[in-house]
Amino acid sequence: MAECIICGWTGPQWGSFKSRPARCIRCGSLERQRALFLALVTEGLYPPPHDPWICVSVALEKCLSQRFYKTYFNQSIDISARGVVRKASLVNLPYRDASLDMIVHSHVLEHIRDDKAAVSEAVRVLKNGGVMVSIVPCRGDETEEVGYAKPPHGHWRQYGRSGYIKLLMDGGFQRVTPYGPDWGCDMSKFNLGKDPVFISYKQGEEGANR
Ligand SMILES: [Zn+2]
Repeated sequence: MAECIICGWTGPQWGSFKSRPARCIRCGSLERQRALFLALVTEGLYPPPHDPWICVSVALEKCLSQRFYKTYFNQSIDISARGVVRKASLVNLPYRDASLDMIVHSHVLEHIRDDKAAVSEAVRVLKNGGVMVSIVPCRGDETEEVGYAKPPHGHWRQYGRSGYIKLLMDGGFQRVTPYGPDWGCDMSKFNLGKDPVFISYKQGEEGANR
C-alpha cells in the first residue's frame, strides 16, 4: 500500500514517473517532495514556529504550493517566471539583508555554476536564526565538480553528503541537520527516495532556533 504524506492519498501502488513507481496519483508529488515535507514537519517548521513566517521558495512544485501559500507568508521565485512566481536567481536575491525566515529549494543548486555564491546569498537574506531547507542529488561523501553543465540534466557537479555540508558551513551557516535517507519509517509505503534533506540554520541569538 502506498501513502502520500503530503495529500493523504492512499492506493495500491505509486504512479509511474520515468518508468519507476514514484508519483502520487492525487497531488503528483515525487519522492523528494515528500521527503522535504516530512523534514519540515519533523523539524518543527511546518506549521511554522511563529507567524508570520516569511518564506521564499525556489522553483516550488505544484504539489507543495497550496500548503506553502496557505501556511507561510510565501513568495515563489524562479529563473523564469509565470503566474504568481517572481523572476529571480538564487545568486542575486531581490531581498534585503536579514529579511526572511526561511528559504526552500529542491534540486536547484546542482544547476547553478557558482553554488558558493548562492549559499552566501541565502545567508545574507536570512534573519538571524533563519533556516534554509534544501535537497540536492547526493551520492557518496565527497562532491565531484564537473566543470560544466553536464547533459542531459545540466548538473555542474555531483554532490556528496560531507561535501554538501561543507559547502553550507563554509558559506556561513552555523548548524546543518541532515534528514534521511534512513527515515525510520516504512519506505515501501511512503517512498521518500535516497536524497537527504538538509536543514541549515544561520547563526541566531542563543536559544532562538527552537
Ligand atoms: Zn499526494
